[in-house]
Amino acid sequence: MGDTIDIHQLVGWLRRFHDLVQDQTAYLTELDSAIGDADHGTNMARGMESVVGKLDSGSASTVDELFKTVGMTLVTTVGGASGPLYGTLFLRFGAAAGAVDRLDGAGLAAALRAGLDGVVARGKAEAGDKTMFDALSPAVDALDAALAGGAAPADAVAVARDAAIAGRDATGPLVAKKGRASYLGERSVGHIDPGSASTALLISALADELAAPSEA
Ligand code: ADP
Ligand code: MG
Repeated sequence: MGDTIDIHQLVGWLRRFHDLVQDQTAYLTELDSAIGDADHGTNMARGMESVVGKLDSGSASTVDELFKTVGMTLVTTVGGASGPLYGTLFLRFGAAAGAVDRLDGAGLAAALRAGLDGVVARGKAEAGDKTMFDALSPAVDALDAALAGGAAPADAVAVARDAAIAGRDATGPLVAKKGRASYLGERSVGHIDPGSASTALLISALADELAAPSEA
């Protein structure tokens, strides 16, 4: 505990992400109704509902097995752009982590970085394109920096969460360059990107899990 994150905590992270997405489905959909097709909340809610169903029935013993299931579930149950993007994030996360049952801070950071690289490989987004990249990339950078500065994983993830939230908020003034919002061009300005908002929830869920007293 403390310096490592075990598989139960990773499952806890996914359950908390599900709960936050359920709580904020209307908010995510509202963001997507401004610059997309008003389905991001329901896409993510449907996908994470299926993921939780798998968590309830399955018993993955390694991080790669767990996230392979999660990633495949999202790819197959979410029709929108976000399904393959989040699916790839989790598939790459698991593959980078490997057949282990816990991660240390460096392992967590490397797995999240691999997830980010997967999002880029899939969607070709760059910084400032007004996508989930703009929340995830600063979060991963902040995580690396905090760990390099000697922070414990829970504290480093709290810093990463703040960076994801700041990245989300910074998408407001941007012109969308990828995804449906890009069809609006300049008219996308003034609206937060829905995927950056769900990504801030993803990192918040991990921060919450690591801040919670361990049940193991
Ligand atoms: P769809 O756009 O198919 O309706 P969603 O509404 O579920 O799918 O997801 C939209 C979100 O997906 C956007 O807000 C953005 O953050 C993200 N997104 C879309 N295209 C890309 C891309 N090429 N790279 C990274 N993220 C993207
Ligand atoms: Mg949409």
